[in-house]
Amino acid sequence: SVNRSAEIQEQRLKLPILGEEQIIMETINDNPVTILCGETGSGKTTQVPQFLYEAGYALDGSIIGVTEPRRVAAISMSKRVAEEMNLSTREISYQIRYEGNVTPDTRIKFMTDGVLLKEVQKDFLLSKYKVIVIDEAHERSVYTDILIGLLSRIVPLRKKKGNPLKLVIMSATLRVEDFTDNIRLFKVKPPVIKVDSRQFPVTIHFNKNTPQEDYLGEAYKKVCKIHQQLPDGGILVFVTGQQEVHTLCAKLKHTFPFHKAAKHVKLTKCIKHGDEPKTNDLPDIKLEDYSVLPIDEQSELKVADNESESLFVSHDTGEEPSADEEAEDLVFEAPPDGSRLCVIATNVAETSLTMPNIKYVVDTGKVKTRFYDKVTAVSAFKVAWTSKASANQRAGRAGRTGPGHCYRLYSSAVFNDSFEKFSPPEITRRPVDDLVLQMKRLLVSLGALEKPPAPKSFKETKGEMCAKITPLGHVMACFPVSPRYGKMLSLGHQHQLLPYVIAMVAALSVQEIFVDNLQESTTEAEKEEQKQRRLKASHVRKTWAGFGNSLLLGDLMVMLKAVGAWEFDGGRSHFCDEHGLRYKAMVEIRKLRAQLTNTVNSVIPEAEIVMDPQMKPPTDLQARLMRQIILAGLGDHVARMLPELPKDADNAQKLKNAYQSLQLEEPVFVHPGSVLYKSKAQYVVYQCVEETSKLYMKGVTAVEAEWLP
Ligand code: ADP
Ligand code: MG
Repeated sequence: SVNRSAEIQEQRLKLPILGEEQIIMETINDNPVTILCGETGSGKTTQVPQFLYEAGYALDGSIIGVTEPRRVAAISMSKRVAEEMNLSTREISYQIRYEGNVTPDTRIKFMTDGVLLKEVQKDFLLSKYKVIVIDEAHERSVYTDILIGLLSRIVPLRKKKGNPLKLVIMSATLRVEDFTDNIRLFKVKPPVIKVDSRQFPVTIHFNKNTPQEDYLGEAYKKVCKIHQQLPDGGILVFVTGQQEVHTLCAKLKHTFPFHKAAKHVKLTKCIKHGDEPKTNDLPDIKLEDYSVLPIDEQSELKVADNESESLFVSHDTGEEPSADEEAEDLVFEAPPDGSRLCVIATNVAETSLTMPNIKYVVDTGKVKTRFYDKVTAVSAFKVAWTSKASANQRAGRAGRTGPGHCYRLYSSAVFNDSFEKFSPPEITRRPVDDLVLQMKRLLVSLGALEKPPAPKSFKETKGEMCAKITPLGHVMACFPVSPRYGKMLSLGHQHQLLPYVIAMVAALSVQEIFVDNLQESTTEAEKEEQKQRRLKASHVRKTWAGFGNSLLLGDLMVMLKAVGAWEFDGGRSHFCDEHGLRYKAMVEIRKLRAQLTNTVNSVIPEAEIVMDPQMKPPTDLQARLMRQIILAGLGDHVARMLPELPKDADNAQKLKNAYQSLQLEEPVFVHPGSVLYKSKAQYVVYQCVEETSKLYMKGVTAVEAEWLP
C-alpha cells in the first residue's frame, strides 16, 4: 500500500482522473489493450502508473514501464510520481538515452520511447514488464508509432506464453482512430476510456496582422504588455527552439530584473599513431574490409546487452528541448509574492508538462520541425506554422486553473488558411533508412525466437522488410547512428582510424555544433563584440583546418579538431564561448563518443579503443584515409564543380563556383562558413544542404576523382 502525505492526497483528489480509477483499472484488467484519452492536466501521466502499482502490477519483481517521447517528461514525471507516492527514486526511476537511476528495486520505470525500443531488441517479449504504458501517443513520434506496432505483436505472443502483458495507450486528444480502427494493428478494437476534465474558457485574441519575420520580438512586446497592464497570472510563451528560449529569456530578464518584480524561468533548459609507410604508394580504404561480427546469433544478442542506451541516436538532438532540469522544477513552484511567473517554452509545454496557474498564453504559432524532401533526400530543420490542433492545445494551457487568454501573434486569416488541421506523424517527415535497417536486424535476431511476427505486418514500409540483410548491413546496424555513419564506423578499424571515426561520427550526429545564428544584439557595443567573435571563430576554424589532407578533409576536420581541442582543454564552457562552439552540443558529442566507443569495443573486441581526451590530430595519411571513409558513408552526397562560364555569359556571376550534385537538379554552392569556401575543389561530399538565398552545402570534404565509383 502507498503512504501519501495529506497534502499530496488533497492535490490528487482534485484531478479528474481520480474519479475514474475503478473503471480504468477494470478495463485494463479485462482487456489486453486499453486506450485512455484525457485533456492535458487531467492526471494521466502522474496517476495511471500509481493506479497500476496499487492494483499489483509491480508485484513479484515485475516492472511498470511508461514511455515518453521527451526526455524532460521522463525525468520530471518519475520524480513527481516518486514524491507523490512517498517512495525513493530507487523504486520510481527513469532511463533516458545517456542516464538514468534505475535499480534492481525499480517498480515504475519512466523512459523515452527510444529506450524501450532498444529493450525490445534485447528481449522481444519484454518479459520483465507486466504492463507498458505508452504516453503521449497523440504526438505520433516515430519511436512511439513503431513501439505500438511492435507491442501489437508482443501482447498476443505473451498471452500465448501464459504470461500476459497489458498495453495502455494514453493520448491527450480524442483522435485515436489511427490506433483503434487499424485492424492490422489490433484485430479486436481496443476499448477507449475518456476522462472528462474541467477546462475553463479561454478567450482567443488574434493579431490583426501577421508579423513577417520577427515573431520573437513580437512575443517580447506582448509579454511586456501583459505584465505591465494585466492582472496577476502566469504567462506561458511558445517559441520554437532552445536558442529562442535563451534569447527571449535574456531580453525579458534584462527588461524586468528579478529583484524588481518579475520572475522568469526558462524551460530549456587513444590512440596509437600508425607507422606510416614511407613510400609513394599510398594505401587506400578497402570498402570490402569492414568489421566482422561473431557468427553465432547468441553472441550478437549479447552485444546489444552491453549497451544501456537507446536504440537510435536522434539527429534532432540539437533541438530537443533537452533535460534542462535545473529550471524545469521551478515552473511548478509558486512565484514569490509581488512577482509573476513567465515560462518560455518550446512545444514540450503543449501536452507533456502541465504548468499550474497559467492564465496567459502567448503563441508565436511557430514550430521547428524536420522537413524531409523525399526526392532529394535532403533533410533540414525549418520553422513553420504549427497545426490548428496544436495551436488549440497551446491555447488550452491558459484555462487549467481559471478563465484565461491566449494571444496569437498571427491573424485569423493565416490561422484559417495556412495552418494544417493536424500535424502529420513524424514518420512521414523523416528518412526511414535507419529504421528499416534496425527493423530488418530485429527480424533477423527474431529468427532465433520461435515465431517471428508475420512479414505482412511491416508491409506498409514498402521495402521488403524480410529481404536479406548483407553482412555489412549487419555490422552497420549494431551502431546507434544512421546507416551512413554506421558504414563509416564499420570501415574505421583500418589503419587505426577508429578513434577518429568515432569522434567524427559523434560530431556529425549532433546538430549545430558551431554558434552561427548568434543572439540578437541590442546595443552597438554588443554588435561589435559579436562581430569580433565571429571573426575570431572564423580564424579558429581556419587554424583547425590546417593544410594538406587535413585541409581537404575540410569542415569535418574542423569538427574533429573542435572535439579534440575542447576535450584537451578540459571540456569547459568558457572554451566554447572563445571558439564559437555550442557547449550543449559538445557535451552531447562527448556522451555519444563514449557510447560509440563502448559499442565499438563490444562489436569489435580486439579494437580496444579508449576515449582519449589527449587524442592527437590525425597524420596527413590518416586524414587522407578519413576522406575516403567519409566518401564511403556520404557517397550519395557527391558534387562536382561546374566548369567556369565565359565572363560575359548570362549566368556567369550567378553560377560562379557552382557545383552539380548527384541528387539535386539545381546548382549548389559551398557554404560561406565552410573552410573549403573558395577552395575550388573539383569534387566534394557534403553532410547536408541548407536552402537560404541559394542551396548551400554544409559539412564539406574534398574528395579525389579516382576514388569515385
Ligand atoms: P496529464 O498527463 O493528464 O497531462 P499530469 O499527470 O502530467 O497530467 O498532471 C497532473 C497534475 O499534476 C497537473 O495539475 C500538474 O500541474 C501536476 N504536476 C505534474 N508534475 C508536477 C510537479 N513536479 N510538481 C507539482 N505539480 C505537478
Ligand atoms: Mg501527461
